[in-house]
Amino acid sequence: MKDEYEFLRKEMVEEQILYRGIKDKRVIEVMKKIPRHLFIPESKRRFAYEDGPVEIGFGQTISQPYIVAYMTEQLELDENNKVLEIGTGSGYQTAVLASMCKEVYTIERLPQLLEKAKSILEELKFKNIHFFLGDGWKGLPDYAPFDRIIVTAAPEIVPPALKEQLAVDGIMIIPVGPMYNQVLLKIIRKNKNNFKEEVLEAVRFVPLVKDF
Ligand code: SAH
Repeated sequence: MKDEYEFLRKEMVEEQILYRGIKDKRVIEVMKKIPRHLFIPESKRRFAYEDGPVEIGFGQTISQPYIVAYMTEQLELDENNKVLEIGTGSGYQTAVLASMCKEVYTIERLPQLLEKAKSILEELKFKNIHFFLGDGWKGLPDYAPFDRIIVTAAPEIVPPALKEQLAVDGIMIIPVGPMYNQVLLKIIRKNKNNFKEEVLEAVRFVPLVKDF
C-alpha cells in the first residue's frame, strides 16, 4: 500500500523488528504493508511508527510494533488456522493475524473501540474477521475449539475458559500477572488435560478487566 507513511513503516520494520531478531518472513511482509497509522486517532498519528505503545482512547493503547511482531511469530500461524483474539483494541493486531490465517474471531469489551476497529478493517477489505462485543474471560464457547489464541490484555491467571477452548496441539500466547509485572506465556495443549507452559519475556499490558 503506497502512502505518505511508507518510509516510516519500512524503517519501523527494519529498526524495531528485524534488528531485534524477528525471523518469520510473513510477519515482516505483513507489517510492511498494513497502514498502522490508520488504527490510531488522528491526534496521535505522528507516533504511529514509533517504538512504543500509543494511546487510542478510553484508557487503552495499541501495542508496541515489536510486541505485535513477537507475539505473532510465537503463535506459529498456519494459513488454515482459526484464531481467537482477546482485546481487539485498535484492530491492528487483528489485521496482522487476519493476513496470515484463515479466520479471526476477536472480542472487545468497549463498544466504541470495537466499532472503530470494525470500520477500519472493513475499509481495508478484510473478509475473514468476526467481531464480538463481550468478555474475553469467557472466550467464545460456541465457536471453539481454536487453533490459536492470543490475548492482548493481562489477566492475573490464565482464564480457564480459554484453556478449554484451545484445540489439541493449539498454541496460546498470553500475558499473565499483576499490573505492570507480567510475563508472556506460551501455552501448548498436548492433549485434553495436558498443557505445556513456557515463559517468554517480561511484558507490560493493560489488565484484562474482570466482572464489568
Ligand atoms: N491488540 C490491541 C491491544 C489493545 S489493549 C491493539 O494493538 O490495539 C487491550 C484491549 O483489551 C483494550 O481495548 C481493552 O478494552 C480490552 N479488554 C480489556 N479487558 C477485556 C475483557 N475482559 N474482554 C474483552 N476485551 C477486554
